[in-house]
Amino acid sequence: MRKLIVLDRDGVINEDSDAFVKNAEEWIEYPTSIKAIARLTRAGYTVAVATNQSGIARGHFGHRELEAMHTKMIQLVKAAGGDIAHIAYCPHGPDDGCDCRKPEPGLLHQIQDALQIPDFDGAWMLGDSLRDLVAGQKAGCRAALVMTGKGQKTLADGEGLKDVLVVANLADFTNRLLDGELNHEPSEGEPGKSQRSCNGCEAAAESYL
Ligand SMILES: [Mg+2]
Ligand SMILES: [Zn+2]
Repeated sequence: MRKLIVLDRDGVINEDSDAFVKNAEEWIEYPTSIKAIARLTRAGYTVAVATNQSGIARGHFGHRELEAMHTKMIQLVKAAGGDIAHIAYCPHGPDDGCDCRKPEPGLLHQIQDALQIPDFDGAWMLGDSLRDLVAGQKAGCRAALVMTGKGQKTLADGEGLKDVLVVANLADFTNRLLDGELNHEPSEGEPGKSQRSCNGCEAAAESYL
């Protein structure tokens, strides 16, 4: 089991904007998400970010502005006692045919290379859009949909969510993960089995942490 959480950025860690988040001033964190990343770090989880930033290809901002946003994000996370191990971003547009723009799994593979891990066994990908979840699942992550950002719209659309865990936000996910609620991976033979009533769950939670 890999103690690795991959996060989409906009709508998960910070407020999303239909007009693009273009500079550090416009990058507004969800304070509960910053605290959640710190809790995950302290619990021994590696946290990475995989983010589509087509605003670069579209000319809304440049690499320097993006770097300033990420400096702000990392400073906030570090001040809270957490860490982000790697940020992978796609600067391309939808028509560039790249292999990194989610729902393609290229950003996940970049994270895999940067962290030198063989696979995403037991890792989670959290996002507010279907393409985040698809990218994560293609790479072998379990997927969770947050209700922040575009999450409610993604849930209402309802497509592709069969194997997706729905959580309120990153803090809710973190609570459930650290409570041991998410350790049990339901196998094919036991669909929908309550994780709380699973006999092996307590032991699994201990070995997981
Ligand atoms: Mg997003
Ligand atoms: Zn790309």
